[in-house]
Amino acid sequence: MERIRLRTQSAQCLEDVTEQVNDAVRRSGVEDGVCHLFVPHTTAGLVINENADPDVGRDLLEKLEALVPSDASYHHLEGNAHAHIKSTLIGQSAAAPVAGGRLALGRWQAVFFAEFDGPREREVLVTVAAARPADAPAEALPKQRRADP
Ligand code: ZN
Repeated sequence: MERIRLRTQSAQCLEDVTEQVNDAVRRSGVEDGVCHLFVPHTTAGLVINENADPDVGRDLLEKLEALVPSDASYHHLEGNAHAHIKSTLIGQSAAAPVAGGRLALGRWQAVFFAEFDGPREREVLVTVAAARPADAPAEALPKQRRADP
């Protein structure tokens, strides 16, 4: 598992972290498998969506804001209830296939860190797991720990 650290630029924004994730995948040495991403924060999340037109991200943030306004009234008194709700709607994890040592994203896809209570220091936990080749013997799988009787 690896940690990508980033400093988000504003209160609510999407930061493209695709290259940092691909760097982590490369360092893992895994050619084919799965990359799991997790955000250990309660007011941020992860989005895999279009990076070609930045208006897609703007629309997403604007519609989330319309749905869950920052200045509405909430029970949570820390002032960031909207960010907790947006984080919950977006989700804290994502997974993507790894092929040829890189994320096998669609042509227009990128991985974005979604900030809802920034700017601040954040991190993304990256776990890359190798797929077992179809012709590999079953012994190649990690041994399952036997449950205690
Ligand atoms: Zn809070």
